Amino acid sequence: MAWYKRLNWVNAIFLIVTPVIVSIFIPLNIIFHGFDWRLVLIFILGCLATSVSITGGYHRLFAHRSYEANWLLKLFYLVFGAAALQGSAIKWCSDHRRHHKHVDTDVDPYSISKGFLFAHVGWVFLKDDPQYREFRSQDLKADPLVVWQNKYYFLLAVIVGFGIPTLIGLAFGSPWGGLLWGGFARVVITHHCTFFINSLCHMWGKQPYGKKNSARDNFVLAFFTYGEGYHNFHHRFEADYRNGVRWYQWDPTKWWIRSLSFFKLTRNLKRVPDSEILKARLQADESLFIAAGSYNERLREIKTNIEERLRQMAQFRKEKLKFEFKSARIELRALLAQWRLARRLYGKRRVEFAA
Ligand SMILES: [Zn+2]
Ligand SMILES: [Zn+2]
Repeated sequence: MAWYKRLNWVNAIFLIVTPVIVSIFIPLNIIFHGFDWRLVLIFILGCLATSVSITGGYHRLFAHRSYEANWLLKLFYLVFGAAALQGSAIKWCSDHRRHHKHVDTDVDPYSISKGFLFAHVGWVFLKDDPQYREFRSQDLKADPLVVWQNKYYFLLAVIVGFGIPTLIGLAFGSPWGGLLWGGFARVVITHHCTFFINSLCHMWGKQPYGKKNSARDNFVLAFFTYGEGYHNFHHRFEADYRNGVRWYQWDPTKWWIRSLSFFKLTRNLKRVPDSEILKARLQADESLFIAAGSYNERLREIKTNIEERLRQMAQFRKEKLKFEFKSARIELRALLAQWRLARRLYGKRRVEFAA
């Protein structure tokens, strides 16, 4: 098929024209009307509401079902998710579930194997492949709120994404400013922050949970993507509501979901047990040692002992044997220190940039 027949002209024009509008009219607006911090506030609040609706709503709630949400929160996600101009929840989740199931292959809608530009934005320029339309979205079509958003997606996107910021701007005499900052600039920034997850998060960073696919963990990207930058972990444990699994890892989406659980707006937050996460890391390290030609009997013994301590700890916890549990934990820490030392000396782990 000729390339122009595969183009989704509406998407292509929108994605090209919006950054042009922002880069011409925002400077003009500042020159002629002065810099107004209230417009910047509309922009920031708009970015936060729409981005968390994508990361916490579209992604971790609707696509992965990593927790459950109250209907009011779902409504918030669906309304502001529409304003992100990334398609309806059904369309977004269908693409994303296909990405996880067929990552890096031709069936992956934003496969990094087709290059940075394709994974970042190029795939949005193309029409949907009819054979994968609404891929694995039966559960979503059973949710009346999600179906409602799918039906009125375009209207919601225009009203919430552009109408409301214009009206807020109008309230203090700057409707064009409201539209430019809260509408266009917010959409462009939110778009590209989300797109980084599909592009750079599959190219740049570490792979502590294995190299079975191209996904990577990257703190810098986590900062710009509301925590989604811990993408290697996410592809390994997609059902976990966290992406930055350690308490100190920058994942505001995880903190948002957890905080809302205190107000009963979220519940049944899914967490992969720490022992499973540790085992996945050990397995990834083992492959690293093998690839580096440094895996030996001693390392194999340390790994077996770590796994044995994990098993014992689970048993001691069940039997409420406090002393035995703590002793096993002390031994586990010593073994992990040895393992980390070996990884530093023989694993040749380094930050990698995909070719
Ligand atoms: Zn991915
Ligand atoms: Zn995902």
